[in-house]
Amino acid sequence: MNDIVKCKICENSCLPSFKAKIMNKLDIQYFCCQSCGMVRTETPFWLSEAYREPIHMLDTGHLKRNILTSLQLKIFLSLNFPPDHKFVDYGGGTGILARLMRDLGCNFFWADKYAKNIFARGFSADELKEKVDAVTLFECIEHFDEPVSEIENIISQSNVIIFSTELIPSPPPRDWWYYSFETGQHVSFYTSKSLKILAERFERQYLKIGNFHVFAPANRFSQTRLGISKILMIGLSKLFQRCIKGLTWDDFLLLKKNKTLDS
Ligand SMILES: [Zn+2]
Repeated sequence: MNDIVKCKICENSCLPSFKAKIMNKLDIQYFCCQSCGMVRTETPFWLSEAYREPIHMLDTGHLKRNILTSLQLKIFLSLNFPPDHKFVDYGGGTGILARLMRDLGCNFFWADKYAKNIFARGFSADELKEKVDAVTLFECIEHFDEPVSEIENIISQSNVIIFSTELIPSPPPRDWWYYSFETGQHVSFYTSKSLKILAERFERQYLKIGNFHVFAPANRFSQTRLGISKILMIGLSKLFQRCIKGLTWDDFLLLKKNKTLDS
């Protein structure tokens, strides 16, 4: 592999940053963009193996994350969209979030190129003929090898994209839980600068509302309502984390330590 590759967001130079072992067996090179700070792996040739188990056993936070996300999303959508609007959860996995959102009264549909719809059957986005009011994309874009073409496809279906991903610190750490070395499924890591550039490539404004990222046309939302959304969403997250101690992280550490990855 070349020592210098082109950034898939801003097209400037990426330099080798560090190497790491993924899936307990492959030594992979990570690159960092010298301009926007985005970090990516070398071209991921291992994905078909990495997705043999779409929800990895180490993803102990899968359900907890969906529950918190659904409540935060309910707040955001209620304050910023009329009640009759339609939404698609893209990369929706088994349909948990689409189902939870429908349970909370939001008209959600499911889409996923790779997963089987279990919980939101009957509400596939394939049935929709028109554009929707927003597409949600939770814990997806770090899986994209080609973020620009993926976002281009999604933005053709909706003017607004609401998504989550962890922002990578700058300079990039050598070790960080979100690299998800064990699963090999996370291949792109974004800074706020890289997300702003990505939004601008599609003539969208980049907004950060709590732990949600939003690409939307300029002045699409009321600043007052966004401010209220942010306060409520952050408050809910703190309350949720404080009240529900849970075993999610302890279980992650236990499973990781036991290395029962093949069971
Ligand atoms: Zn870049």
